Amino acid sequence: MTRRVAVIGGGSSGLACIKCCLDEGLEPVCYESSDDIGGLWKFKENPEPDRASIYHSVIINTSKEMMCFSDFPIPAHFPNYMHNSLIMDYFRMFADHFQLTKHIRFNTKVLQVRQRSDFSHSGQWDVETENKHGKTEKHIFDAVMICIGHHCHPNLPLHDFQGIDTFKGTHFHSRDYKTPEEWRNKKAVVIGIGNSGGDIAVELSRVTKQVKPNIRRFQGSSVEFEEGSVVEDVDLVVFATGYRFSFPFLASHVTSVSGNKASLYNMKVAVIGAGVSGLTSIKACLDEGLQPTCFESSHDIGGLWRFKEKPEPGRANIYQSVVINSSKEKMAFSDFPPPADLPNNMHHSEVLQYIRLYAQAFNLLQNIHFKTSVLSVRQTPDFAATGRWEVETERTEGPRETHVFDAVIVCTGHFSHPHLPLSDFPGIESFEGRYFHSWDYCNAEGLQGKRVVVIGIGNSGGDIAVDISRVAEKVYLSTRSGAWVVGRVGQGGLPGDIVGTSRLDMMIQELFPSWVSRMVEKKLDEAYDHKLYGRVQVKPNVKEFCGSSVVFVDGSIDEVDVVVFATGYNYSFPFLPSALQAKSGYRLRLYKHVFPPALSQPTLAVVGFINGLGSITPLSEMQARWATRVFKGLSALPSEEAMNKEIEKDTETMHQSFACSERNPLQVDYIPYLDSVAEQVGVRPNILWLMLKDPRLALQVLLGPCTPYQYRLSGPGQWDGARDAILTQWERVLQPFRTRVVLEPETRPSSRRSAIVILSGAALLYCFLYRKHLTSSFFSSPLFFRSLK
Ligand code: FAD
Repeated sequence: MTRRVAVIGGGSSGLACIKCCLDEGLEPVCYESSDDIGGLWKFKENPEPDRASIYHSVIINTSKEMMCFSDFPIPAHFPNYMHNSLIMDYFRMFADHFQLTKHIRFNTKVLQVRQRSDFSHSGQWDVETENKHGKTEKHIFDAVMICIGHHCHPNLPLHDFQGIDTFKGTHFHSRDYKTPEEWRNKKAVVIGIGNSGGDIAVELSRVTKQVKPNIRRFQGSSVEFEEGSVVEDVDLVVFATGYRFSFPFLASHVTSVSGNKASLYNMKVAVIGAGVSGLTSIKACLDEGLQPTCFESSHDIGGLWRFKEKPEPGRANIYQSVVINSSKEKMAFSDFPPPADLPNNMHHSEVLQYIRLYAQAFNLLQNIHFKTSVLSVRQTPDFAATGRWEVETERTEGPRETHVFDAVIVCTGHFSHPHLPLSDFPGIESFEGRYFHSWDYCNAEGLQGKRVVVIGIGNSGGDIAVDISRVAEKVYLSTRSGAWVVGRVGQGGLPGDIVGTSRLDMMIQELFPSWVSRMVEKKLDEAYDHKLYGRVQVKPNVKEFCGSSVVFVDGSIDEVDVVVFATGYNYSFPFLPSALQAKSGYRLRLYKHVFPPALSQPTLAVVGFINGLGSITPLSEMQARWATRVFKGLSALPSEEAMNKEIEKDTETMHQSFACSERNPLQVDYIPYLDSVAEQVGVRPNILWLMLKDPRLALQVLLGPCTPYQYRLSGPGQWDGARDAILTQWERVLQPFRTRVVLEPETRPSSRRSAIVILSGAALLYCFLYRKHLTSSFFSSPLFFRSLK
């Protein structure tokens, strides 16, 4: 169906828009409040309210070849600097030639432009018009182009001019100036030296006695100038003081005017939390021209990565020894590569250092209100029309406040509320030793010579068991289901997550899922001879506690002093309406883990509530980039029904693919998920196109690690440094290893070997595209790989 576009205004911009719509096969309807085309260039003897008006003598400042439409040159016999009447002739010729006038409804004023109630799905607008007889009508459009010009509403700053109210002569705005005739032999003052001010002053100077600039004040009929001179008996003051912008038919959340600056889509967005997800959301807002205000309950940025000596309730907490599982190039912000000197698997203090560099580089701190907690987020009474939210905040030792925002991004993390399932462990209430949640674990201090059981074999459980094993007498690691142990160090001593995780590897995985799973399992099994590992003893599930003993389900009983529950986290958004916290399986009912589908306006997004076999930084960043574009209406969501269907399908697929549980409901296939959101943003890398345009880069994108820079190569938010960041990523990986000079002969892969790799890659890419209808996904085996040192 042809998409209908409302064009508001039939001036030169309006005419150009009508033509562009026709060129693109759209159906334009132009509303023009006057009875003619030309807008500002149509000379009016008497200025008409809310319309631009020019003086009789206006001649264009730009020469005709610079001013013409690109496919309709101005006739050769027209002068280079045309009088306004000739410009009008040219516009008429243009409109006639392309038959534009039949698309214009003259004498029809646009009263109101509003997003339709189903805007989030349809992207459509209600446009209300009024004809010259006062009859109003409503129309529906797929898009709106506003071409009302910016010389309609005179800016008359009279309050800046002391004594103007007592001035005895005549004063008016340059918009009301027509000809100099009636001011012959009078004294005139022109205020302002823009195009109009200059033109009018010169024109008046031909007939008047004197023209002067820079006023201090008016008194009676005299004008005092800043340098001290006074001119008596002034007859006329022309305020060539510019124009104000105004879009009276648009809702204020769609456009805002501040001072003399009008910006479309300058929506106010509340970002809750200043961890990695919050910071990247602030940046996404700034990149899209939105106004972010971030509320962070603590005194600093970094969230989970800000190490706290003592755990702070309601916030994520890490132990002293935490080193990232994902290597730095995988964890990078997509337009801010980490410094080459930083180690690949950074200590938490280095992660925070990198986060601080990012915040500084993009001036993010100035958008954050520290020590300010968000207490509640509620829809405004007019939410259906505006999509706005009331956000209630409380400063530490300060007042509660309520603010209204056009959109909200929730970035509060999901490692803040420990899950301590004591009721599943009979006898724990009378356990004679000490027990605590991994959230409370800081270091192995006080555990020297102790016997410890760690329950749960997730990232934290594994890390903590290893950490404690260095000082404890004995450490047991209890697991219900077992886990695959994936080291941080991969083939050739390189970070494990950048070898074997390329797009090509993903394609092979999708084409041959069982074979790849078998190969990966074999490789992981080869890495350890389990019989030889005894420092951390793996045990099955705990049956019960008895005095100071722990009884496992296999019947074994061991004496322990300390129990560490690495039993995961509950997720909770205490400040959100409960209706937005509906579930699908174990996961929150969020479209692509970001948008609650039930909202009539898509102005609330959750960012960073996700896990993938990569890193959270690129996931959060991509979600934030998408959210801001949805807020602006640049990316539309499907209908509520379609979103719900997709959520159900995703939940089912994820439950089949991963060990998804109540504690771990957020798993996604890393590259396919990133690609699917990138598609919404319009930044998914097009490898075939890259192959033709830049084969060297294409090979890195296909065969190298899938680093976040790939999503900055093209489309909205494109970054000029992305290509270089990809081509130099291995340098940054290798740099921290270069601790000493090792002399060795240089080896180069033979050109024959390179050719084979390229040809195999191309063949696989072909097979992959051919079989694209298959929905099997990356790492879709029933394995869930976990990392342990
Ligand atoms: P957080 O870092 O938790 O930040 C949330 C922020 O919100 C906090 O600053 C908090 O104070 C604030 N906040 C909360 N509620 C409110 C409120 N009501 N009002 C105002 N402010 C509020 N990920 C990786 O990618 N790679 C890794 O190697 C890795 N290792 C990990 C190791 C451990 C031990 C753990 C527990 C997690 C690890 N993660 C890792 C995942 C980690 O969650 C993310 O890296 C990242 O920290 C998440 O950032 P975030 O901003 O979403 O949440």
